[in-house]
Amino acid sequence: MRKHQLIVPLAVLAALSVPAHAEDRDISRDTLPVNDGWAAYGPGTTGGSAADDAHVFTVSDRAELVRALDGGSDTPKIIRIAGTIDANTDDDGHHLDCADYATDGYSLKKYLAAYDPRTWGAAKPSGPQEEARQASAARQTERVVLNVGSNTTIVGLGSSAVLKGASLQVKNANNVIIRNLELRDAYDCFPVWQPNTGGLGDWKTAYDTLWLNGATHVWVDHITASDKGHPDAKEPTYFARNYLRHDGLLDITGGSDLITVSWSRFADHDKAMLIGNGDTATGDRGKLRVTLHHNEFESVVQRAPRVRFGQVHVYNNRYAVEDGHRYSLGVSTESALYAENNAFHTPGHIEAADLVKSWNGTALHQTGTLFNGYPVDLLAIHNAYNSGSERDLTADVGWTPTLHTKIDSAERADREVARGAGAGRIP
Ligand code: CA
Repeated sequence: MRKHQLIVPLAVLAALSVPAHAEDRDISRDTLPVNDGWAAYGPGTTGGSAADDAHVFTVSDRAELVRALDGGSDTPKIIRIAGTIDANTDDDGHHLDCADYATDGYSLKKYLAAYDPRTWGAAKPSGPQEEARQASAARQTERVVLNVGSNTTIVGLGSSAVLKGASLQVKNANNVIIRNLELRDAYDCFPVWQPNTGGLGDWKTAYDTLWLNGATHVWVDHITASDKGHPDAKEPTYFARNYLRHDGLLDITGGSDLITVSWSRFADHDKAMLIGNGDTATGDRGKLRVTLHHNEFESVVQRAPRVRFGQVHVYNNRYAVEDGHRYSLGVSTESALYAENNAFHTPGHIEAADLVKSWNGTALHQTGTLFNGYPVDLLAIHNAYNSGSERDLTADVGWTPTLHTKIDSAERADREVARGAGAGRIP
């Protein structure tokens, strides 16, 4: 603090006072604990903890948040989110819905008529409706994509901070902390039809709730990310495919590295967490080192996570699988997934063999897995029941994690994560 300062900022007073309740503790200047996962590597992760008093912001609407983010600058800064912020708002704070973004004559009805595979065929959409869709989508992107720069901490205040409709993006930035925040419903108003995806074609959406792209030293802790309000399962089917509105909850791509994701909840979503987004992205080799611990994946269809290239330590996580589940752990090209002491809960018809899927993967290390309360060996089960297109996986992923704090039994982690993961639950 500066000398002779007469007025003590409230934030400093709050930090000095003894909290009456744990949730009143000021977490703004916390840094990642020593050894707590890959983000602790080397200099560790300190986010905006070195911010001067002029760069500690409390924001309660989109305009204030955008000002505080400062165009993704690398000035050390702490951004504290108070209450609910809606990213789909104009500069005066008025809510914008999909119709407000639509321009150049775009309408879903006309779009569906123009690119119906029975008349349009399998060519990529082009022409007036696709151009209008792109122009409309650009208007939404300009509102909802929020760039987070280096040396930044974003925390929710208290137990009810929500960022709604946004795609938070940490792109080519270093040293970022995001904690105690609910990220909700990064809803795409303008999905694009991709006729050549997966044989049947598919709807492709634009926004990850949180996207780490070329990001290093990032600590994500006690966040809750979900599609709350707009579950994709409730969306209609067009061209015989679910009209998806959401992309990833937390995607980690583009050479991102040294990431710790802890005590967070990922819920009510299709594709939760993609680590490495392409088999040909060989620049990701040696990167994508990620630790996931004490997280809850609840009612997630797939990608919890799906991994390419990275050394990924997945320990003490809790999975509550529900109907519609496809797989949890995805073993893809050159991935080195090290899974320890995770607990899975499934409805009776979803079996342990459904928890792991591989595409071009060669290895998976797993120990201490609990399946509906019973110990199982996911690797042995995968190799015994895998489908014709999948090959057997070995247990040798070529590395042993050393950066981690205490590893609990799956049983204990299961209980503690159910109680303690997610926003508003920092002890
Ligand atoms: Ca994505």
